Amino acid sequence: MDTTATTPKTTTGNMPLQLIDLSLEYPDGEGTIKALDSVDLAVGAGQVLSLIGPSGSGKSSLLAAAATLIRPTSGLVIIDGTTASDLNDSQMTTLRREKVGIIFQQPNLLASLTAVEQLMISDHLRGKPLKPAKVRALELLDIVGLADSAKKRPHQLSGGQRQRVNIARALMGEPKVLLVDEPTAALDHTRSESIVRLLVQVTKEFSVATVMVTHDTEFVSLTDSVASMRDGILALPELVGA
Ligand code: ADP
Ligand code: MG
Repeated sequence: MDTTATTPKTTTGNMPLQLIDLSLEYPDGEGTIKALDSVDLAVGAGQVLSLIGPSGSGKSSLLAAAATLIRPTSGLVIIDGTTASDLNDSQMTTLRREKVGIIFQQPNLLASLTAVEQLMISDHLRGKPLKPAKVRALELLDIVGLADSAKKRPHQLSGGQRQRVNIARALMGEPKVLLVDEPTAALDHTRSESIVRLLVQVTKEFSVATVMVTHDTEFVSLTDSVASMRDGILALPELVGA
């Protein structure tokens, strides 16, 4: 492997997700709770960062701020070069739609739709042409190992398969950033491992920057780096195995 070629890339290269001095406070009675405390983070294209830390340490808050679902109290969220805090709400929604894929613990699929329809629905609602959407949806279902399940509805799929549909759906809009909150919380060990492996695979294949919150520290070794949170403070990411 040519390490000289890859080293500069990780330092100066493409960082689809950057958080700079990010703080987030929630109102709490008379005072406030500091969910994020001056967090700095950059995740490169094709990299999976595992985010660990105790319950209440701010992991989901970090994902919500990075996803532009909540505005931070201070600091910057930069998605694929665009600073989210410079945008109004509708511009921010567009940025999220075009650049961010979000995967939560519960797949939240629509009960009446088949797997391929779950992937096509948002293109459909936006009035985009259906033929290319279907081609891409079938391609993605193939990539996540569900080529034979395109016509199945959620109740005909296992928990692991539903999470695979969820992952494929998040990739439909060709995101630059993938934010994943406890994707394996509802799954057994074997299925959890294969979901983490799939997230790593699609991160490389589509060159997205992925942050995965996980309580399974065991699977952290499958990802590129790990950072831990405590009381809203992020300890710097370490390269896994370094
Ligand atoms: P984690 O995902 O690591 O469990 P969270 O980001 O959910 O942590 O929570 C961080 C802190 O912020 C906790 O003290 C939690 O109680 C608080 N918190 C989270 N969401 C809200 C909210 N919507 N309103 C008020 N406090 C919140
Ligand atoms: Mg959480």
